[in-house]
Amino acid sequence: MHIAIVGCGQLARMMALAGWPMGHRFTFLASPGEGTDCVKGLGDIVVHTLEMEDKVLFEALGKPDVVTVEREHVNVELLATLLPHCAVSPSPDAIRYCQHRGREKTFLNSLGIQTAPFHLANNAEELSAGVKALGFPVFVKTCEEGYDGYGQWVLRNDTDLDQLVAEADSLPEVVIEGRVDFCRELSLIAARNASGECVFYPLTENLHRNGILWSSLAPADAPAELHAKAKEIADKLLNAMEYVGVVAIELFQAGDELIVNEIAPRVHNSGHWTQGAGICTQFENHLRAICDFGLGTTTNNQHAAMVNLLGIEAPKEIVSESNVQHHVYNKSLRPGRKVGHLNLASDDRAALEAQVKRIRDSLYEG
Ligand code: AMP
Repeated sequence: MHIAIVGCGQLARMMALAGWPMGHRFTFLASPGEGTDCVKGLGDIVVHTLEMEDKVLFEALGKPDVVTVEREHVNVELLATLLPHCAVSPSPDAIRYCQHRGREKTFLNSLGIQTAPFHLANNAEELSAGVKALGFPVFVKTCEEGYDGYGQWVLRNDTDLDQLVAEADSLPEVVIEGRVDFCRELSLIAARNASGECVFYPLTENLHRNGILWSSLAPADAPAELHAKAKEIADKLLNAMEYVGVVAIELFQAGDELIVNEIAPRVHNSGHWTQGAGICTQFENHLRAICDFGLGTTTNNQHAAMVNLLGIEAPKEIVSESNVQHHVYNKSLRPGRKVGHLNLASDDRAALEAQVKRIRDSLYEG
């Protein structure tokens, strides 16, 4: 099939790399000025211009069978203009929910899915009132466009609040969240195809550094009840949205409870380990879902892990370790930039955890 992907980053690259062996063809839609190195050589690249919408955009993309996205911050109105011409998966409506933290949390709560307690604020008065209602500490996040810790403030006391209040009227709409006293961060990657079949990868345990994913381990060491709880959340969400494609649900574990932090309507960094686990990868399952094929195996027999390469190259001795797979995105190095990742797998969980720690320590000394 001919698949058009909105975005030209590493997620688009890995979707295309998964689709080529299946005979799919790809076109990538770039925003003006967007870097396209990640997808070079993997299909046509179309740079979006103002007149490109509806049929003009459909034709510029080479009349694809289906259009998908590698990021949630896309123009959903523009995507909706393609609906008379081809499938758009996930749907513009599903993406719209995930573009706005307030809308997303309200929707989750309406399904009986737990989130951090929150208030929305558009100005200084609402910000102060929201913080007062929740009590310190709070997380203040821009409702739209924030990611990987950007557009986010932690307020611990009145001085922090006064500082942000002084800027509040120039801020976009924010969500104020009470702090979740979590013991660890988890995520669940799931997929649903257009016929309604759903599959769920096991819970993944994630470690962050400066708000950015550092490493993942799957399956998370957790009782069957917790895995079942996560699956129930994903199942509810996928079916309520009539979602098509892969979704990532970021979770906090607090005691036996799972609290949803956010949803990404796309393949996700915390699902990269699926490439090295001898199962159907999140990238392949996304393509199977949006093309309405049956979905592939999601249960790994081995333990799998992923370590992100953030602004660094991995040295030869590490990528030469026998159970390490090296993925690079063809991006230039910049501090903290996601330029690649390592996938690892082993029958021995303790040995894998020790290996991941050793590699992290050696890559990020100090
Ligand atoms: P986010 O951009 O929402 O993914 O947040 C980045 C990181 O901040 C998360 O991975 C958590 O470590 C932390 N964080 C965000 N929101 C909360 C919250 N309500 N309570 C506790 N920690 C949070």
